[in-house]
Amino acid sequence: MEQAWAWEQEMPLRWLLIDEGSSGVDGSDVALALCADIDGLFVDPEPPRAAEHYTLIGCDPAGPLREALAHAGTDRAWLSDIVLDPVHDPRQPPPQGCQPYNPGCSCMEELLDVTVLGRRPSAAGADLVDVDLRGHLRILPEYGWPPAQPPAAHAFTLTGNHDGPALGTCRQTAGVFQERPRPPVRPVTLLGSRPAAPLQALMEQRSARRRHLRATIHTVDRSGHAVDTGRMVSATVIGARPSRLGAGLVDVVLDDGLDEPLPDGARVIWELWRTGRPDRPNLWAGHDRALRHQWSGAALRHRRSGRPDRLAGSTFCLDGRFVTDIEGFYCALGEAINGPGGYFGWNLSALDDCLRGRWGAMAPFRLIWHHAEVARRHLVPGYDRPAYTQRTWGPAITLQDLLAILTEGRVDVDLR
Ligand SMILES: [Zn+2]
Repeated sequence: MEQAWAWEQEMPLRWLLIDEGSSGVDGSDVALALCADIDGLFVDPEPPRAAEHYTLIGCDPAGPLREALAHAGTDRAWLSDIVLDPVHDPRQPPPQGCQPYNPGCSCMEELLDVTVLGRRPSAAGADLVDVDLRGHLRILPEYGWPPAQPPAAHAFTLTGNHDGPALGTCRQTAGVFQERPRPPVRPVTLLGSRPAAPLQALMEQRSARRRHLRATIHTVDRSGHAVDTGRMVSATVIGARPSRLGAGLVDVVLDDGLDEPLPDGARVIWELWRTGRPDRPNLWAGHDRALRHQWSGAALRHRRSGRPDRLAGSTFCLDGRFVTDIEGFYCALGEAINGPGGYFGWNLSALDDCLRGRWGAMAPFRLIWHHAEVARRHLVPGYDRPAYTQRTWGPAITLQDLLAILTEGRVDVDLR
């Protein structure tokens, strides 16, 4: 028995599941279970997909696409985005699953980081060309997997993005609509868990439909304070067994995984906050871009809200020694304003939000940016795939961009 007790001491019940619409559970903020560990919460992301080849068939290129074609084979033959909007037959009802956007519709696809390889005369019509491209298809699994078959359309209009320049039209495509393997599902198991009554009742249901668990995952620190990780599990309970992690605890087996697990390396970051927050600056500096982003995410979630801003006119010091990427900038800025483990935005729109006040500093303020040469060397123009989201693949955010945003937000930046 002493052994089992020792296990419990080593394996605190550090995760809390709060209901978000599970079968048969009524009321809000209902605690479903505490558990020692969640297998499937931390999963290393799939490696990035290799570049693909596409052909725009029967293309009438315009704007930057036409220019890129003139430079095929050089590094000027590059476009950050090509949006393909299908032109549906207006006399027919929209294809199944098509949702109109403004502009475009949900049948649109987007090619990213596109190199224009060349063109040849097209069989689709005189004056039309077939354009060969290499790039990536934007895939956002939460909005559905790209279809293997093209939508019903008699042409596609091409744009840089929905606010961007017109790139012409094409009749058909090759390589865009194809079978692509989905990433494997990593089902979740709640290890060493203590289900509360509502989850216990759900687990005893016979029909799978009534065993659907939908819950947000919170981390519980040593004082019992729970913080939302921003991650949600939504799956059917398919089994439970006594857990090796402690007497009376069970492992609850689910049939599906998280939409967006945390990368495996983020475990130490969340553990650091759970056992007491960062007590000195730059503990993030040894992490890569993806984990620096996770660091800012943990900082955001653990932010002490309700504290008054420092007064307008204050001066803050940013330690720029580790600002070797945009993720590092957000970590360093968060600590400049709010101390070790501090948060002050983790993407441009969040930064913009923070500059409006109530996030630790009230503009106008002064920011002394020490060792700015590091950012000057690294935050330079180019194409970028920031760690934080596939949505913002595109031109890199440069030091000049950041200075413009900070100045706009009434921050007087002193680069040193
Ligand atoms: Zn459509």
